[in-house]
Amino acid sequence: MKSLVVANWKMNPKTFREAKRLLEATKKAADNSSHVSLVVAPPALFFRELRAGYKGKRIAFAAQNARAEEGGAHTGETSLVQYKDAGAAYVIVGHAERRAMGETNDDTRKKVAAALTQKLIPILCVGETVRSANGEYFTVVKEQLRTGLTDVTPAKLSSVIITYEPLWTIGADKAMGPRDMHEMAIFIRKTIVELKGEQGMNIKILYGGSIDETSAGAMLRDGDVHGLLVGRASEDADRLSALLQAIEEAA
Ligand code: PEP
Repeated sequence: MKSLVVANWKMNPKTFREAKRLLEATKKAADNSSHVSLVVAPPALFFRELRAGYKGKRIAFAAQNARAEEGGAHTGETSLVQYKDAGAAYVIVGHAERRAMGETNDDTRKKVAAALTQKLIPILCVGETVRSANGEYFTVVKEQLRTGLTDVTPAKLSSVIITYEPLWTIGADKAMGPRDMHEMAIFIRKTIVELKGEQGMNIKILYGGSIDETSAGAMLRDGDVHGLLVGRASEDADRLSALLQAIEEAA
């Protein structure tokens, strides 16, 4: 089975010219990777033109964030409808960096529901900001799943992706170990089965946080995940090639 790799460029690169170059290099790397489905999430301002200029088949495009409302007085925001119109297939919802800016579980609920209405696949990010020894992060993740998925029917779970991406692993020195991820994947599935029934067993789960070519293979093999959400290692063409190459070798 192919692994899903979501390349979250965040607020990079600085210019459209560089973004075009990065997408060209990303396309080349993707064309050599038969075991990966690649999703690129460029900055909003570059999205439509990059998407329109992409002629390949291997890459799909994601919004890094979008507003649930279809229109209205929301200065500076971009709606899911507008992203759909620009060719998005996915939307990242509740990224830890957005939660840190004030995005609430209820905001994620609205975005997940609106994405499904627009036939976009929501990638709902969950994860604690800090990990304490007493295991309270399980409660945090459970509540993020419960509220974020409130409006999702069991039949629609196959159109939703969950990413476990705790804030403390983002931009860090190394990724979390695959065993810890495996434990969390079991917890996520169990929670969704409790909430939605047996269809929760097949939920797709990704890991995100400081993944690179040294950690990707082990995480995909032993972490009980369907793929990876990648920040820094996707913003540099050489690092992305190395990452995809490592996944090919581990497949
Ligand atoms: C991210 O922010 O989605 C992320 C995973 O970042 P990094 O890989 O740089 O830790």
